[in-house]
Amino acid sequence: DQSVCAPLPVLGRDVTVPLVTGGEVTYAALDYAASAPALQRVWDDVAAYAPYYGSVHRGAGYLSQLSTDLFENARRTVAEFLDCRADDQVVFTRSTTDSLNLLAAALPDGCQVFVFETEHHASLLPWRDARVTYLDAPRSHREAVETLERALADREPHGPALVCVTGASNVTGELWPVRELAAAAHAHGARIVLDAAQLAPHHPVSVADLDVDWVAFSGHKLYAPFGSGVLAGRSDWLREAEPYLAGGGASRKVSRRTDGGVDVEWHESAARHEAGSPNVIGAYSIASACTALTEAGFDTLVAREQYLIEKVRAGLAEVPEVRVLSLFGDDAPRVGVISFVVDGWNSSHFAAALSAEYGIGVRDGLFCAHPLVRTLLGSDPQTQGECGAPEAAPGEKSLNAIRVSFGAGTPDEHVERFVRAVR
Ligand code: PMP
Repeated sequence: DQSVCAPLPVLGRDVTVPLVTGGEVTYAALDYAASAPALQRVWDDVAAYAPYYGSVHRGAGYLSQLSTDLFENARRTVAEFLDCRADDQVVFTRSTTDSLNLLAAALPDGCQVFVFETEHHASLLPWRDARVTYLDAPRSHREAVETLERALADREPHGPALVCVTGASNVTGELWPVRELAAAAHAHGARIVLDAAQLAPHHPVSVADLDVDWVAFSGHKLYAPFGSGVLAGRSDWLREAEPYLAGGGASRKVSRRTDGGVDVEWHESAARHEAGSPNVIGAYSIASACTALTEAGFDTLVAREQYLIEKVRAGLAEVPEVRVLSLFGDDAPRVGVISFVVDGWNSSHFAAALSAEYGIGVRDGLFCAHPLVRTLLGSDPQTQGECGAPEAAPGEKSLNAIRVSFGAGTPDEHVERFVRAVR
């Protein structure tokens, strides 16, 4: 389709892998939802800076100052990318998992948390020390909003409350009605954090427009390398909380008391939760990816991705044994993350065959969202597969699923090969 833009250059395009049938083929990376290949642009930016890096916030030397500037500029770039409000903070973390655990550690006393059972474990599990209400899987956007509204209406009024919701599912790729859920949360005096791990690589995220209080995402799914993530949003809860990690960088003043103990004054800025020497290359690579995506333009990227989604969905629809997993139905808006099972096939064997016979890398399993996959497969919790456990025998009901996922760097040939292979 001539109207659709070319894929963005990413690392690993020329990697060849051996086939079990003999010969070799270029690797088709179709597991973007786990980790997307880094953009060539990010690699080039990091390579240009790498010889000059130094300690952040800690040195008088030129390279230390250069690194401090890059680190703080990266914070501003991320704030712009997320369209943050003027008084929001951008905290650099290790990942989405780390960001959500940080927020969980910063909850005010007595905070009630509301979370759908359909969440990724990173957004489902960090709240277990708080009073959590797990909400049943909704089957439509409207049901999602109504379910949340009912739960919030039943909550004890006046105390602090937090809703945690994903922007795009890492299993079905379906978008969630974030703006409506945020409005419902705020109408009931609750706050909301958006898990944008799967949304931010595919869609523009505006904190101000969606009116979410916090947003979390990971660099390695946003075409940057591993090791860095972001928690951005309201500063009050973060400023009032104990530091996530105690140590240098988070502390403004430390002094011995006359009784021999130690008094600490913590920073109130994002540094409060960034103790230790910051990962300047990680922060810089996230900022570089944000800039590259913004320059490419999300309108163009979304159009290309929708074109690839249609190719995959049309191809899968031609195979009667394939069942695509969905909560909200065929018409739900979605990103390039599609999970399915194939009648008569063990999902793990199927994924292994895609790799061995076609050089295609997908994922099989429960995708760190066990309750959601169980609901989608209709499997019994007691017999449900677990990560690393053997799959159902051929002919038995699937306990695992297969997930194909792609994005800004995916060439047509990869999804065409995938569709041919499934067929
Ligand atoms: N949330 C969602 C929706 C995800 O897909 C993932 C990663 N699969 C995470 C959170 C956790 O991200 P990370 O592993 O980078 O912490």
